[in-house]
This record gives sequence, structure tokens and C-alpha cells, in this order.
Amino acid sequence: MGLSDNLMHKAKANKVGILSLGCPRNLVDSQNLLGCLSRKGYQIVDIQDAEIGLVNTCSFIEEAKKESIEAILGLIDLKKEGRLRKVIVAGCLVQRYKEELLPNLEEIDAFVGRMALSNENKESFPLTPRHFAYLKISEGCNHTCSFCVIPKIKGHLQSRRMESILEEVRIMDNVGKREINIIGQDASAYGLDIYKKLELSRLLRKISASLKNVRWLRLLYLHPQHLTDGLMRLIADEPRICKYVDLPLQHINNRILKTMRRRTDKRKIMQLLAGLRKRIPGVAVRTSLLVGFPGETEKEFSELLSFVKEQQFERLGVFRYSREEGTPAFSYPGQVPEKLKEERFNIIMQEQQEISRRLNQKFLGRECEVLIDERSADGTYMGRLNIDAPEVDGLVYVKTAKHLEPGAFVRLKITDTYEYDLVGNL
Ligand code: SF4
Repeated sequence: MGLSDNLMHKAKANKVGILSLGCPRNLVDSQNLLGCLSRKGYQIVDIQDAEIGLVNTCSFIEEAKKESIEAILGLIDLKKEGRLRKVIVAGCLVQRYKEELLPNLEEIDAFVGRMALSNENKESFPLTPRHFAYLKISEGCNHTCSFCVIPKIKGHLQSRRMESILEEVRIMDNVGKREINIIGQDASAYGLDIYKKLELSRLLRKISASLKNVRWLRLLYLHPQHLTDGLMRLIADEPRICKYVDLPLQHINNRILKTMRRRTDKRKIMQLLAGLRKRIPGVAVRTSLLVGFPGETEKEFSELLSFVKEQQFERLGVFRYSREEGTPAFSYPGQVPEKLKEERFNIIMQEQQEISRRLNQKFLGRECEVLIDERSADGTYMGRLNIDAPEVDGLVYVKTAKHLEPGAFVRLKITDTYEYDLVGNL
């Protein structure tokens, strides 16, 4: 190899490309990982231009595991073709299955397991568009839901110190972010470990008081047990906090809630939802539900369906129960056949589609504020209302001859509605 070949090889050897799978919490880990690599002198590039391929995996449920394994195998293929020199696998798949992965995947050059909760995010690498960000305030979870593997993978609740979070917020605000999405496995439990009490409201007040550019603050992943009256009041009163409550409920039948170890029951959930609607006018509630949990009878499923019909959630995610090793529910009797899970999933999704279509129709003719996210190839802009979280909720399609920058707030009139999305004119 000549000198120039050597130099070229060296330059390419520094190029790292990443595939980030899973939820926004994983995305924050990926950003931190890239920040760390960039500080060490690596150049961060698209995966097709990289010599080192890194995949940050997710193994929360069966589907996520499959996706992660496919991504790893894809990178291994690139290595075999000589287009990648090294393959590194990070994230929770490694955490859970390192022993199983090691002997089978000798093509993998390195594994990175659980990542430390970042306290200094100054130089992390943004994987989100420039105008919004995810802010991780805690990691891990103190609950012990019988279907969930997260506490095993991520450990107990570890909250970040307020000063560290506020410093990160200051940077986000200074670089011109318009929206911050607050995340954690159980964001509502923030503070219980290090401050010995629930401190999310105090943290939000401090964050809000420090902001100049950020207009939307959104809370994701609140546990019903910790959604206090004080927090509801704050969401209602603080103009920067989106009137959007993401509250995974999983089920409504008391027997199932108990076997799920959800530490709540139907009466409390109903009270909480009624309180939310009363205290936060115009609130959009997002929840997620689990169908096909072991032992779920037809009657119990019907109860869940009636609950969905009655509550008319603005946003809803439905998951098919995934049998995960290492969780108590893995060995519960009455595992539901996949076909039946699929049927139940489709029934609720169809119902929700209709609910969402009807709720969206109420926006017809209304004037709304929209945050522009991006422009598609055909020139249509895509944006969101403040009751839509990035990447999971609906979009507003905006047709205009005007040039709009991602991150701009515009006022428009809704002219058409679909099941999940809206169309508006400036
Ligand atoms: S609260 Fe959420 S993250 Fe924690 S154990 Fe339950 S489902 Fe898992």
C-alpha cells in the first residue's frame, strides 16, 4: 500500500456510521455514543460511507429483537462484501443476549452493553432534526410489571441531577431548538431515587423558566401511579407544556391489571382519566394497551374494547403481548395463541381508527398552530400540532407556495381530515 492509500485507509477507518433502532430513549443513547466517538476523533458519517458500522439494538419485544438481528446480519453482510471493516453492536439486545450472541456472531468485532446515563451531553451528536430534541431525565424503572423486561435490562430508576439536566436544556435552547420531549422509562418517577420524592413538577418549572427559544415542552411515558394533581395543574397552567399526556395503561380489567402487577386498578384509572379531562381542558391523551396477555379471556378483552370505545383516546398504541424470557409472565398459564392476539389487536386498531377519524373531523375549519418538521419531495410540508409527538403521532400536511423552514411555527386552517392526519392551508 502506498502512502496515499495508507492515508485514505486511515481516513476511512475513522468513519463511523450508526443504525439506531427502537424508541426515542435508545436514540438518546445513540446520540451520546456518537458524541463520545466524535470526542475520540472518529468521524460520524452515513452508514454507506462508513468503515465501522454500529447498530444500537432494542430487545424490548419479539418484533424489536427480530429487527435488531436483521440489522446486525445486514452489517455483517456489508463486512463480508468488504464495505465495512468492523461491526459493533450496542444496546439492550447485547445486554440480554450477549452469551447467546457471542459464539454465533464471530463476525462482530465488539459489543457495548448498558450505557451510562449521560450527565454531560454537551457534545452529543444530534440524530433528530435540528428543531426538536429528546431530553432523557432518568433511566431504569422501579416497577415490576410482570410482562416487562426493562427493569432487568436497564436496572432501577436512576434520575439525573437537576443541574445537569438544566445545563443540557440551556444548550438545547441556545442552539435554537423549538421543542423538547422529556423522556425516561418512567419519567413521572423522576427524583424518587436521588431526592427521595417526586420532583418532576419542580424540574419542569425550572426548565420552563429557563427557556427562550423552546416553545413546546412535551412529557412522554408517565406512569398512572405518579401522575399527581400537582403535575396535572402544572400541565394545565404552564403555556410551554403541551396539553398532551402520554400515559401507558396496558389494560383495564382488574384481574389482568393485578397479574400484570400494574399497582393500579380500574377505579383509580377511571378517576385519573376523569381528573385529567377536567383539569386540563383540551388535553390529548395517548395510551398504550397490551392485548393477548396470558389468561386474557374473551370477556376481559371485551371489557378492554368497551373501555377504548368509551374513553375515545386521542392517540392509542396497541401491542400484542410478547413472551419475554426472564419475566414472571413468561411462565404464566394460559398463553394466548398468536392468531388470537392478532385478531384482538386488529379489532382494537379498527375501532381506534374510527375514533381517531371522528376526533380529527372536529378540526375541520379550525385555525391551528403547526410546527413544520420537513418538506417532502413533492413540495408538501409536514408538520405537527402540539398534541402530536414526533415520530409516533399524526401529521399535518401543509400545501403552500411559500418557503417554510423546518422549525418554523405557522398558523393555518384545517381543510381536510384523515384517520390519523390533517391537511391545512396557510
Ligand atoms: S412501568 Fe413500564 S418500564 Fe417499568 S416495568 Fe412497567 S412496563 Fe416496564
